[in-house]
Amino acid sequence: MKKTFLLTAAVTIAALAVLTNCKKQTTENNNDKFTYNVDKFYDLEVLRYRVEGFEQLSLQQKQLIYYLSEAALQGRDILYDQNCRYNLRIRRAVEAVYLHKTNNGEMTLASAQDEQDQLLEKYLKRVWFSNGIHHHYSEDKFLPEFTREWFEQALAEANYSLDKEVLDVMFDPALMQKRMAQADGIDLIASSAGNYYGEGITQAEAEAWYAAHKDNSPEPKWIGLNSQLVKVDGEIQERVYHVGGLYSAALEKVVESLKKALEFAETDEQKAVIEKLIEYNETGDLDTFNQYCIAWVKDLNSRVDFVNGFTETYADPLGITGTWEAMVNFKNIESTHRTELISQNAQWFEEHSTTDPKYKKEEVKGVSAKVITAAILGGDCYPATPIGINLPNANWIRKEYGSKSVSIDNLSHAYDEAAKGNGFAEEFIIDEETRQRAEQYGTLCNDLHTDLHECAGHGSGKLMPGVTKENLKEHGSTIEEARADLFGLYYLADPKLVELGLLPDKDAYKAGYYQQMMNGLMTQLVRIEPGKDIEEAHMRDRQLIANWVYQHAENKEVEIIERDGKHYLQINDYDGLRRLFGELLREIQRVTSEGDYAAAKELVETYAVKVNPTLHQEILERYKKLNLAPYKGFVNPVYTLVKDKEGRVTDVTIDYTEGYIEQHLRYSRDYSFLPDIN
Ligand code: ZN
Repeated sequence: MKKTFLLTAAVTIAALAVLTNCKKQTTENNNDKFTYNVDKFYDLEVLRYRVEGFEQLSLQQKQLIYYLSEAALQGRDILYDQNCRYNLRIRRAVEAVYLHKTNNGEMTLASAQDEQDQLLEKYLKRVWFSNGIHHHYSEDKFLPEFTREWFEQALAEANYSLDKEVLDVMFDPALMQKRMAQADGIDLIASSAGNYYGEGITQAEAEAWYAAHKDNSPEPKWIGLNSQLVKVDGEIQERVYHVGGLYSAALEKVVESLKKALEFAETDEQKAVIEKLIEYNETGDLDTFNQYCIAWVKDLNSRVDFVNGFTETYADPLGITGTWEAMVNFKNIESTHRTELISQNAQWFEEHSTTDPKYKKEEVKGVSAKVITAAILGGDCYPATPIGINLPNANWIRKEYGSKSVSIDNLSHAYDEAAKGNGFAEEFIIDEETRQRAEQYGTLCNDLHTDLHECAGHGSGKLMPGVTKENLKEHGSTIEEARADLFGLYYLADPKLVELGLLPDKDAYKAGYYQQMMNGLMTQLVRIEPGKDIEEAHMRDRQLIANWVYQHAENKEVEIIERDGKHYLQINDYDGLRRLFGELLREIQRVTSEGDYAAAKELVETYAVKVNPTLHQEILERYKKLNLAPYKGFVNPVYTLVKDKEGRVTDVTIDYTEGYIEQHLRYSRDYSFLPDIN
């Protein structure tokens, strides 16, 4: 899963264009109590997502989701232990004190008399969010704000004992500083708190072991994906994650739930997927894992789909071992229809674009992306979560059998909804009319722009003979993203979209144009530290487009105006703006088709990299005053089996009322199977 995380607070109605995978659909307002915003502490905000369409699924599909959801929650402890071998002990100790002080979770400590009590609750909430004692994004260990003395006293009162060694890790800033270290010239394993390697093993030893065991066959096994390397009597040994091996107690439960899920599989292909995953969990055999991945890629007709297991390797400093994660989802038929419609019209889009006919493809194949609705998040997808999934990771399987790429619309939708009213639009959008249009059509425009970008933009155009993508070297990805973005922007304003029923009226696109320009020229700068250049390809692409258009707006199609010491984007001529997008698209297609490195470099260096320091400072100050949390995560809904008198399941209900603290206390009570030390 190449993770598309929402890393910053730039997720607001006015900054939607920073998302690459934002999808929306209609919301069923059948639950008045539903709130998107759940909790906020430190730099974190907890949101809630709706599982739109769950009620309309068949009873079989609902039960399938129920058991897959159980399997998704049962591995929770694994991630804590992978993140750091002290995590489970610390979480359990803090929870024990918390339960003691709150009469088993009956009350909260948010406004407790003793400030130390309040700080305990904040610390625990932070541990849950990060699945351990290190910040989920910065990787830095965070320290409790309550004192060690106070905590030791509280432990004694709760009748709970914790080793000095563990207390030291909790309170001493010098110990286990980074979950994953990345600097040059250090031993990455010794410097990382992650538990992918046992004590005393060096980076050189681990690398040598991997090199010696690498599978170089045409269909290679991913050696090390599901194991911890340890040193026993000077020898390196592999402790494999499987039933009977490392993390057995949790994996046994996962297997139990998968076996129940198997009874409700929708298709034979899906049955094969679940069977292979059970076998893999039981044996830890990596050939079986490959077979599972292939079966998963081939299963295209089931509505329900899921990920469950050791998947992404970002958290291992050597990039070998997978972190446990889970997500259950089902296809969103309505939104997927939208991407199919765009894909079917890819040829028309190609023929009518502003690019030179000699750079057009004679025959364009559109891509139809699948849009999904997340039903449960677990492991490394929870509480912070990706908004897109692209698996499997093994390149040979991708090449031979393909891959699945999906965007998760209900999570993106929750980000949008939660951002409404946070003050961002009021601060940065120029006037009420533009704000209202953004509120009404912003999400829709962003969805369509993403669809046009993914389903038609990237696939459009052709390279001249002898030219390859490598011609543009380090500027290749910025130019390619700009090309797809411009393709999307150009067509967002086209009457064809209204004709296809994708936009409600001919002016709706203006919301998308305003967002894109404001984001590219101004608001995306909130993600850049003062004095720094723009590095990331998507950010460069957005500034390239907005800045180029701004500099070429000879008839003042767009302006930046000043009002009461603040700067705002003003669009005077939307048609003119579209012409400018078309002009730049034509040039960028030429640069791509000809492999014109000099022109690509000139475009990127002139428009995409440098930041106006005065404007940047102003944007940062205005943004800071809004007091928005840069990192977001979710609580899950609660699924319950409804049974009749004979014990037969008649329905599965979904409930959205569980709070953040409640949910984690319940998970720690009902889904915690591993011992303290693994
Ligand atoms: Zn792209």
